Amino acid sequence: MNFVNLKGQYQAYKNEIDAELQKVLDTTSFINGPAVSELEEGLKNFVGTKYAVACSSGTDAILMALMALGVKAGDEVIVPCFSFFATAEMISLIGAKPIFVDIEPKTYNIDVSEIERKITPKTKAIMPVALYGLPADMDEINLLADKHGIPVIEDAAQSFGALYKGKRSCNLSKIGMTSFFPSKPLGCYGDGGALLLDDEKLYQSIKMIRDHGSAKRYYHEIVGINGRLDSMQAAVLNVKLKRLQKELDARQERANVYTEFFKKKGLETPVVKDVDKVSAVAQYTIEVENRDDLQKKLQEKGIPTAVHYPLGFHELPVYKKEYGDEKYPVTERVSRRVLSLPICAFLSEEDQMKVVKALDELL
Ligand SMILES: *Cc1c(COP(=O)(O)O)cnc(C)c1O
Repeated sequence: MNFVNLKGQYQAYKNEIDAELQKVLDTTSFINGPAVSELEEGLKNFVGTKYAVACSSGTDAILMALMALGVKAGDEVIVPCFSFFATAEMISLIGAKPIFVDIEPKTYNIDVSEIERKITPKTKAIMPVALYGLPADMDEINLLADKHGIPVIEDAAQSFGALYKGKRSCNLSKIGMTSFFPSKPLGCYGDGGALLLDDEKLYQSIKMIRDHGSAKRYYHEIVGINGRLDSMQAAVLNVKLKRLQKELDARQERANVYTEFFKKKGLETPVVKDVDKVSAVAQYTIEVENRDDLQKKLQEKGIPTAVHYPLGFHELPVYKKEYGDEKYPVTERVSRRVLSLPICAFLSEEDQMKVVKALDELL
């Protein structure tokens, strides 16, 4: 059993994916081909924004969002203390300072009540993360940000397709960004990402940054990057995007199977749905006392699991010197306890039963 059943997914869509890839090969429009425009059209329609910019990765999407907003060396950007490194990394890369905020114990998302006291005159953006696919409390965050005139970037790398009060993740703030890393809810066959937004000026600026700071070839106006998505990846995504809602429903169904099992055992379960939110269930992540031990024992039974993530940002070797004295108690507790179980639309009933049976024996 693989942690994510990408093989099963490919087998299910193989004919169409192969045909779409062959089309790209036949036309040789490898960069900015029709598949990329088709994808951008599909993404913005799915999410409900005016604009979509496909790009080279989720990490580059964060970088380009920060660049487009004019975040620069010496500025500060507020992020949750518990996420994948890229959320903080791109802030550091441009010489700005990530300012960490602890997370809520139930949703693992940024604790909104802790944001305001971290805002300073240097704060140039707030970047909540929809961890494991569940959107953060975006209304409250936007309200706070508007009050201080600060833009909000949603790191929706794990939550493409999730809902918040009926609206799609990526359409919940000034700029939404996502990742098409193969194991994300919508994944390509390499690296990819996208930015989604309504603001026309920012849209033009992001498109320029994506193409070496030029709107017209070889007439470079600003310093940008090569942040393009290639046509092969777009071709794969076009096939998968059509099936995404079905896959999201299948993820919820599998999450429900786990949740029923844990409830029966009297154990806590993660939030995959509540009155305001429907998670994309990028991960189904439980908390356990003896996490490392359980992970090892599951591995011995052939059950793959993952730890997202073993350390808070402030504890990472790269940040320890600068932030090591800061305390984020929820992040510190949760990072020692979380364990993500196999989940995706192509997790078979048989495999999921194996996981449940193994957990039943070990817990
Ligand atoms: C995956 C991920 C990213 C980075 O996306 P890549 O496409 O891998 O560069 C950023 N933020 C979060 C929260 C992620 O999970």
